[in-house]
Amino acid sequence: MSAFIPYGRHDLNDADIEAVVAVLRSDWLTQGQAVPRFEESLVAYCGAQHAVAVNSATSALHIACMALGLGPQDWLWTSPTTFVASANCALYCGARVDFVDIDPRTYNISVERLASKLADAEHAGRLPKIVMPVHLCGQSCDMAAIHALAQRYGFKIVEDASHAIGARYRGEPVGTCRYSDITVFSFHPVKIVTTAEGGAALTSDPELARKMRLYRSHGITNDRAQFEDHPASEIWNYEQVALGFNYRMTDIQAALGVSQLRRLDEFVARRRHIARCYDTELAGLPVMRPWQNSDSLSSYHLYPIRVRPAECGKTQREVYEALSAAGIGVNLHYIPVYRQPYYQRQGFAAGYCPEAESYFHEAMTLPLFPGLDEARQRRVIDALKGALAP
Ligand SMILES: *Cc1c(COP(=O)(O)O)cnc(C)c1O
Repeated sequence: MSAFIPYGRHDLNDADIEAVVAVLRSDWLTQGQAVPRFEESLVAYCGAQHAVAVNSATSALHIACMALGLGPQDWLWTSPTTFVASANCALYCGARVDFVDIDPRTYNISVERLASKLADAEHAGRLPKIVMPVHLCGQSCDMAAIHALAQRYGFKIVEDASHAIGARYRGEPVGTCRYSDITVFSFHPVKIVTTAEGGAALTSDPELARKMRLYRSHGITNDRAQFEDHPASEIWNYEQVALGFNYRMTDIQAALGVSQLRRLDEFVARRRHIARCYDTELAGLPVMRPWQNSDSLSSYHLYPIRVRPAECGKTQREVYEALSAAGIGVNLHYIPVYRQPYYQRQGFAAGYCPEAESYFHEAMTLPLFPGLDEARQRRVIDALKGALAP
């Protein structure tokens, strides 16, 4: 039996490893120069004015919500088809969360449903403070349309771009923040580039960047210009001015991030090549391939297919189990967040977002990562063909 093929995997080369070793040999393992360098690299690539690197995308989403003032009585709306962190960040702030169903083609938040839900919420007097579009699988949401709704209804936008560094929307990189207040990336090893654990929040608003830096490190500032007046006899070398966290990224991680970012375009090109091979090879099979919007260029974090029993005579579960049995690390992204037991206890009922649920009942993610060579991709395709055979 051949080796297991995971659904995702990091890709480290000698330069990445040497970058980490150089930090390990240096004087600064954390709070040195590697984190600012990584932040500069992110800014240079994405085009936003500021980047705040932290220890995970989850932390980045949290400080993004804090910087935008999300609190009790406020609502954050996001997609149900995402990782739980996109919703949890609102609950960390004591705010409430609601979900807008997905578009049946892109699986991203549906702009039509968002528009009608906003109109209803305006009447009811409970408009969201933040809307968080998630660029599922690496394909950008329709940000111009969501931005236009933000202008009309006055909400803020945080892009959860955990899947989408290196992707493009209308000819520009995801992360310009042209259509949003803040954009968040994840550098977990299954994502496009990695720092082991890590994340970043990008913004072009200097005040949001200042607040996020504060919340990243205990709410402490070292900027003497900002200090309050103190007795001249006392030594004040820092001030805590807000309640923050220790969400800092280490220099070890940031050095890896700088090195990985140099390879970002190569990674995305490789992912897009693998996705094109799947597109071609699966064209004759009774499964739905991921639809692509001509406005955007996906970074292909994920390649989800949909298995519809009426069309292929097999259930999702049968195909999933056949692939697993063949050593293929098939996966599911995602169970609708509100179906999780924790969210059910918050009062959400099954069936709340029908499109997200039918996607949940039909989708599965095929292996896709830069190191997936032709022979192993062939094994995935053959196993899928076998699983679908009558
Ligand atoms: C991975 C992921 C996160 C969380 O990222 P971490 O860096 O692991 O905290 C958040 N949202 C989405 C959509 C993700 O895929």
